[in-house]
Formats: sequence, structure tokens, C-alpha cells
Amino acid sequence: MLSTLRFVLFTVLSVGLLFTAVYVTILNTYKPVVKAYINGDFIGYFSDEQQFDEIYNDLVTEKKNIDENVKVYLESEPTFEACYIRDSLLKQQNVYTNLRAEIKTEYTVYDLLVNGEQEMTFTAEDQAEDYVEKLKAEVSDIDTNIRLQKVSELENITSTDRADTILADIVDRNKPVEIPAAPVQTYQPSYPTTVYTGPVIPAVSGRMVWPSSVYGGVNCEYGEYFGHSGIDLTAHYGTPVYAFMDGTVVFSGWDPYGLGYCVKIDHGNGLVTFYGHNSSLLVSAGQYVSAGQQIALSGSTGNSSGPHLHFETRVNGVSVNPRIYLNQL
Ligand SMILES: [Zn+2]
Repeated sequence: MLSTLRFVLFTVLSVGLLFTAVYVTILNTYKPVVKAYINGDFIGYFSDEQQFDEIYNDLVTEKKNIDENVKVYLESEPTFEACYIRDSLLKQQNVYTNLRAEIKTEYTVYDLLVNGEQEMTFTAEDQAEDYVEKLKAEVSDIDTNIRLQKVSELENITSTDRADTILADIVDRNKPVEIPAAPVQTYQPSYPTTVYTGPVIPAVSGRMVWPSSVYGGVNCEYGEYFGHSGIDLTAHYGTPVYAFMDGTVVFSGWDPYGLGYCVKIDHGNGLVTFYGHNSSLLVSAGQYVSAGQQIALSGSTGNSSGPHLHFETRVNGVSVNPRIYLNQL
């Protein structure tokens, strides 16, 4: 009786131990987990829903690192199902890959349109505005427009380097067409001028100065066309005109014969010099000036199609080639 009881007790204990051992083994090998699905697609096993959230948040961060303004979302809420799986299975999963495939993104991009053509695409509105400013600074007459778009993938985003190249191209294309320099000197004196042919050129003494601030430049020679009674010296608009030699201003005003604002200086010995087409006059009749003194600012007044200085030398009222004097400089 006693031995029977001992046997039963022993058996119960053994069976108990056996079950415990099996149970512990199962617990160690199989884990309680959740299976996650999105839209019916199996994503993987997670220890709990919180772990799913953590991985999801990792992936959101991954996208935000590319563009902080991206909208990241799942098309539908995940569903979870509790179950047990082998430990080893947990390690073989590709939850990142599977979940990444389910993640939807919406990026906001800013297209920069120039005269209706899409030229650049940025993820930051600031950057697009920056390039609009740069373009407007370089090209006055340009139509720019920033177009906001929502896209699911970031494609064809313009790098700064590329944007700079495009900018330079647009500026190039929109450069104002260079107008060929207008033919300078169309002065046709309407009053009779006699080209001096006599042998006697009065000797002049004293310092001589090239009358235009552009030293040595000549646009049109004396007599280069019929009736050209002076020489056209290169000059820019508003640059100084100098007295050729010491002398007395005999005229400073509007020349009715085509020389515009004109100065005439008497240097004595019958030599008078004319300075035509000025934009403004700095001396007045009766004033004594010395060689090199600023007497006017060059321009294109009177019968002239571009800024230059018409310089004329007259001996006893007859025009002579100013080269006779200028070539001494
Ligand atoms: Zn001239």
C-alpha cells in the first residue's frame, strides 16, 4: 500500500517534471509575438505593437533626412494578430524592407518657370525664390514663376551647381542684343567751308594739348568726305574737352550750322579752334583759357549721330587740316 502510494507520487512528480521541462523548452524556443499586416500584405513579426511603431518611426526619420518637409504615411492602418513563432524566424525577417515598401511619401517641390519653361526644381521654396532674385538682378525683362507641386518621389531635383549653370545660360540667352556702334560723325557743315590749300601754315608756338580726353583716337579725318572741315576725335559722352592751346574764348554756345554746343578759341596769329557737339559748355566768350583747361564735356549735340569731338582749326577764317598741329603732339 505504502509502496503503491510512493509509486504514484513518484510517477506524478516525474510526469510533472517532464511537463515542466517541455514547457520551459517551448517557452524558450517559441515567443509570443504579433504579426503585422498592412493592406493585407504581411509585413513581419514584431515583439509587440510598440516595436512596430519604433521601426516605422525609424523609416520616417530616414525619409525626413532626405527632405525634412516630406509627408510620410501608410495607406491604411496596420493590423496585428497575436501568435507564437520560433525565435530563429524573428531574426530572418526583412521587416525594414517590407515596411519600407508600404510607406508612402509626399514631397513638396518648387519648379522655377522662366518665360513659361520649367528650368529648375527645388525642395525648398527659399532656394527657388533665391534664383528668381538672381535672375531678376541680371535680366530686367524676364517672366518668372514658382510652381508648387506634390510628388511621391524626389526626381530631377536641381543641384546648386546645375542651377548656377542654368542661371548663367538664361542670363546669356537674355542678354540685350548688342547694337552695333552707330557710325560716328555725320556732321555735314551746312555753311560754306573752304579747305585751305595755300602753302602758308602759320607757325604757332606754345603748349598744345590733344583736345579730347581719349588721347589719339580719330573717327573721321579732315576732308574724309566732302565738306568735312575738321577732324572727329574719339570722345565719350560727358568726358572732358580741353583747350588745344592758350587763348581767348570767342564763342561758347549753340552753333546754328550743325556743331551743336560749340566753343571757339582764338589763339592769336590768325589761328582759331572749334570744339563741336558738346553736351555742356564750361567756359564763356571773353574768357581766357590755358592749354589743357577743361572747356566743355563731349557729347552728340547738333548734327551728330554719336558722341565725338569735332575739332576744327581755322587760319584766318579758312579751315586747315588739324593734323598739321595734332601730329606735333
Ligand atoms: Zn566733324
